[in-house]
Amino acid sequence: MRISRFAFFYSKQGFVWQSLKAQRVFLSNKTLDRLADLRKADLKEPRLLTLFGDEYTKLRETGILVTDNKEEMMIARSRKLSISNQIQGLYLIVTTTCNLDCTYCLYRASGSKSLTGKVANRQMSPDTAIEAIHHFSNQVANNDRSGEYWEQVTLYGGEPLLNTRAILAAIQQVRTEQKLGRLVRDCRIVINTNATMTNDPAVDVLIKEGVEFQVSIDGFEEVHNLNRVMKSGNGSYAKVMEGLEILHSKGASIVPMITVSDDNLNEIPTFVPWLVDRFGIREYYMSVLMSGTGDTRHDYPEAAARQMALAAEAAKRLGAKDFGVCSQFHTLESGSTSISECGTSRKITVFPDGDLHVCQALEETGLSKIGTLRDGINTDSRSAWLNRTRFENTECLDCPAIAGCGGGCAAGSFHANGRIDGIDPNKCRWTRAIFESWITSG
Ligand code: SF4
Ligand code: SF4
Repeated sequence: MRISRFAFFYSKQGFVWQSLKAQRVFLSNKTLDRLADLRKADLKEPRLLTLFGDEYTKLRETGILVTDNKEEMMIARSRKLSISNQIQGLYLIVTTTCNLDCTYCLYRASGSKSLTGKVANRQMSPDTAIEAIHHFSNQVANNDRSGEYWEQVTLYGGEPLLNTRAILAAIQQVRTEQKLGRLVRDCRIVINTNATMTNDPAVDVLIKEGVEFQVSIDGFEEVHNLNRVMKSGNGSYAKVMEGLEILHSKGASIVPMITVSDDNLNEIPTFVPWLVDRFGIREYYMSVLMSGTGDTRHDYPEAAARQMALAAEAAKRLGAKDFGVCSQFHTLESGSTSISECGTSRKITVFPDGDLHVCQALEETGLSKIGTLRDGINTDSRSAWLNRTRFENTECLDCPAIAGCGGGCAAGSFHANGRIDGIDPNKCRWTRAIFESWITSG
């Protein structure tokens, strides 16, 4: 019997953190001191009983003291809880053209290049959009729909409003599949847009259809314009604000998508509550830069974690919820094991030519391709993306945040390590920083 590798000592706070179970185990000072001394020891039960007396049972039950076998079983259980392999999301890349030229666009990264070079300027035909929705409904038809089940279609680009014919065809097909019962009634339709083209008449149809507008905006004018620029080189802030005004005045559901970089770090605790208040926002999403998509200062993930927590707190007071920071804290507090956050096992991405990928961010690598609309999904290609979890990674097994961490982004790992199953540095350091502030604060 030995002390588990998942036992982390917080002696000042009076507990051991069992990282696999996400549980604080409060113990007497004497026991904490003795455990610390026995870190590497292999001890028999009678001796442990003598050492720990009444607290021995607690140490066994909470997985602080374990046998090798017990620990292996605990890892296997947590790993299983972190896996979700049924397809529930569709990303429809209706165009690989954009009217903006953002400096940290994920498509600029070496793993993607979808908007540059030979593969730029592709448009999805309405027929391909219809076929893609039909293919998606075939994939989800036999899903287990119990629990908090969801299905989502994301209209994505480039800038998707540059191809409204494909968008409208896709929405119509979603409605058809819903009527046939092949997609759930509350299947969400989301458009990921820069909001600079909201004068298009198709936008009225999208609003009427209840489509959620996820709008990229990063800060007040000066800061936003540092990275989100039009093709002409001019900043896009004025156009984005005009777009938000239009969407807001028409009652659209708006979810701002804020990319946190060195440039807006200091501003977000002021900007986010302002934005929330200005447009009556209920939900928004702040994300750290995908690793490899922009230069950052040496302590960027830790600074981002601090500032994002401040921004989320201020926005929460106004009744708005941040999906990233708030759900990370929520997972930590719930003491549960997070499902892997990378969507590659749960979504399919259809590019304009009908190629199927597990994700939109890795087209150039060829690794993410799993088939075509014509030939269907190649199960061997997809299987490489299933069952990838943080529990195969030694660095993760030794990390106190393992239970609540989503394991990061495969594309971020690829850009940092040249492989999809390594550590995604930006997300990993961000998660650890959030964890440390949470565990030491109470
Ligand atoms: S690799 Fe995973 S987390 Fe990263 S962008 Fe793709 S689906 Fe999202
Ligand atoms: S990705 Fe990083 S934060 Fe997450 S479990 Fe692994 S080492 Fe910990």
